Amino acid sequence: MEIYDNHVHLTSSSIDFFLNVFTKAGGTSLNLVNLTEDCFLLEDFERKYDQTISISKILEEKGLHVVVSIGPYPVNYVEMREKIGKDKALEIYRKAVDSAVRRVEEGMANAIGEVGRPHFPTSPEIVEESNGIMEYIFQSTSDNDIPVILHTESLDSTGMCDVMKMARNSGKESLVVKHFSSPIFSGNCNIIPSVPAGRKNARSAPWGEKGFFLETDFAGDEGNPNFVLPADSVPKRVAMLIQEGVDRERIEKSMNFFKEFYKLV
Ligand SMILES: [Zn+2]
Repeated sequence: MEIYDNHVHLTSSSIDFFLNVFTKAGGTSLNLVNLTEDCFLLEDFERKYDQTISISKILEEKGLHVVVSIGPYPVNYVEMREKIGKDKALEIYRKAVDSAVRRVEEGMANAIGEVGRPHFPTSPEIVEESNGIMEYIFQSTSDNDIPVILHTESLDSTGMCDVMKMARNSGKESLVVKHFSSPIFSGNCNIIPSVPAGRKNARSAPWGEKGFFLETDFAGDEGNPNFVLPADSVPKRVAMLIQEGVDRERIEKSMNFFKEFYKLV
């Protein structure tokens, strides 16, 4: 069975540790998401995109199915804006989006992410400008319907519908993922919830349906193995569900959803 983690961060020094733990537990596939929190120039972002693409090749060589997500992390916008001013920061963000979209269109990556707005309270100006970047991302990904993975503050049903309204107003009807989502599997205006792979979330998910993901947001390494969730969380939850009597075929159907969602097939 395909066992898929929808949000993993790896560096060249954490690959072996992650792979060992993940595959030993039964993991077969993952979404490799870049982390651009230390990028400030367009070239920094592009270097990080290309590093992420290189890491994905290493994982594929080891037999994993890999989704690659690249894009400017929304949190460094805050610091960047302070250092170089709003106009320049916005320009770099837009160019970083263009550059990521180009790589997806060239077949080097599959999705734009993680992008969005800071998850902590900021000024109304930063929220507004981040929303502007999000609209730009929705517009830039609408033509070829490229999947978008959003990093935002915690969203309830209303917040999810507000984001989808913003997407639709920018021409993007679907393929929007809420990363680190609350377990809101319906009444979400068709945003795709990607929920942390804890026991409670895994038990409450609608197995047998398509339209949601489990994730770890793993960003650790050997010295810090459980940051954010341990690398083997998704395979362990699948094993738990099977043991608790959830039909294997239903789990499989939901686990396979990533292939059509990210157009791997
Ligand atoms: Zn992340």
